[in-house]
Amino acid sequence: MSDIDGRAVAKAIRADVAAAAAKLRAEGTAPTLAVVVPTDDEGTAWYVRSIKKAAEKEGVDCRIEQLDAPGKGEIIAKLQELSADPDVHGIICQTPLPEGVTLPEVGWYISPFKDIDGANSEGLGRLAQGRRTWAPATAAAVLELLKREDLELSGARAVVVGRSTVVGKPAALLLLNESATVTVCHSRTKDLAAVCREADILVAAVGRAGMIGADFVKPGATVIDVGTNPTDDGGLVGDVDYAAVAPVAGRLTPVPGGVGPVTTALLLRHTVEAAELSKTHP
Ligand code: NAP
Repeated sequence: MSDIDGRAVAKAIRADVAAAAAKLRAEGTAPTLAVVVPTDDEGTAWYVRSIKKAAEKEGVDCRIEQLDAPGKGEIIAKLQELSADPDVHGIICQTPLPEGVTLPEVGWYISPFKDIDGANSEGLGRLAQGRRTWAPATAAAVLELLKREDLELSGARAVVVGRSTVVGKPAALLLLNESATVTVCHSRTKDLAAVCREADILVAAVGRAGMIGADFVKPGATVIDVGTNPTDDGGLVGDVDYAAVAPVAGRLTPVPGGVGPVTTALLLRHTVEAAELSKTHP
């Protein structure tokens, strides 16, 4: 088994981002990402600071828009304001959201030209139509990791465990658009292990530590672990039982060091692409 090195992939993407950002700056555009943070959740604050640090390292400006106990209307107003601001190119509405507010209902107010994390339903619609769009960065990271491996996606049997709007569904659509034969599993799936064992490519996006054991994996399969589950000692583990699956899988992403760093790198890539797009769609 070989590890798929997400940190190395992220480094390569970020080098391209830095070059594109420098070019944009030389042409008079400072690529800018705005992150709307609607709660004071500690984990979110840490994550958002890490995005800002990564952005600024590669020459992308990052504005953190912290909102104080906002209602749905205030979140929408902020997203509309940023969508209309010519100095902002990419917008993220960070989750979790306040009680009773969902991402699809506020994400609709992010301009599709700035929706670099696929929060506007229009992006998911375009993805379903096989048209160009920015998929949610985590789902895009799954495909990016697979595409950088020497793998034939066309005709491959892919199983995605998880059907959330931000990860499972867009990851399944991205794989389908690559002509993989895709099965999407969820909490009602019967005999999950047997379905997963059919996969040449297995994507785990559930949020249950270590639930994918060796009996879920076809020998030699490529396994992408999207799960990030905090441990009692402050660490992070995936949805895949790494020690059990490593001897069976052909390739496997570690947690941490797999999907996570690629997700951050793609948020930056999408932002410079949006900044480039702003020249023709101001
Ligand atoms: P989510 O919205 O909670 O969705 C979880 C999905 O897993 C649901 O579709 C659910 O099925 C399914 N599920 C739950 N229990 C199951 C079971 N026993 N068997 C089969 N399926 C089951 O989570 P998410 O936002 O998609 O995130 C998934 C994981 O990815 C989490 O660990 C999250 O922290 C992680 N994540 C990582 C990144 C990154 O950058 N690395 C980014 C985002 C998320 P139902 O639909 O039937 O309920």
